[in-house]
Amino acid sequence: MTAYKHLFFDLDHTLWDYDRNATEVLRFLFDKYNLQEKSGSSVEAFLEIYQQINEQYWIRFEEGQIGKEEIREERFPLTFKNLGINSLKGLEDFGEEFLNLTPHKTNLIPYAREVLEVLKDKFHLHIITNGFQDVQLPKLEGSQLRSYFRKIITSDCGFNKPDPRIFLYAMEKAGCEPSEALMIGDNLQADVFGAQRMQIDQVYFNPIKEKHGLEKNPTFEVTCLSDIPSLLM
Ligand SMILES: [Mg+2]
Repeated sequence: MTAYKHLFFDLDHTLWDYDRNATEVLRFLFDKYNLQEKSGSSVEAFLEIYQQINEQYWIRFEEGQIGKEEIREERFPLTFKNLGINSLKGLEDFGEEFLNLTPHKTNLIPYAREVLEVLKDKFHLHIITNGFQDVQLPKLEGSQLRSYFRKIITSDCGFNKPDPRIFLYAMEKAGCEPSEALMIGDNLQADVFGAQRMQIDQVYFNPIKEKHGLEKNPTFEVTCLSDIPSLLM
């Protein structure tokens, strides 16, 4: 068995339950801003349209076509437009409020804390996330995960996974070699393929058992975080 010393975790959808946390805030804001009245649509329709639009923006971001400002400024106005809301009057602060509230939500992926608790004494734990520091740090702090991690690598370093440069930057910051590192994440492209290109072993966290056709299989694949310690210890 390879002697891993440094474990690099992705944050959103791997440790921090992005979908549940964001959905709770979106439901709250849907009511607060009277969107049912303004659009005649249900909260479910709103969530579905927003999720599609948001996903498209993140794909374009990960391909380097747009920056974070475009995501932040455009995704809600476009959602409102798709819901049939013609005037943005009174909705100007919606996106800002979403950004302010969401990182303070604290729902975690099942077993996240338990697994970190088991791993923390045996390994150096770090985060590599494609989010931004101002959003990701409150998530870690609010859900009381911050103290488990030595280095927090975010998109603010100028690169996003799967760009090899964010992994290089992370190795340098953590002071480790690719052979001592393991990347753990839910995204095949960003986390698994990104780490493969850097000769870093990977754990693909695949809770919905998504089928995949990567040229090279992940080093490990788990459907539950609680399966990770037995792979490594
Ligand atoms: Mg993720």
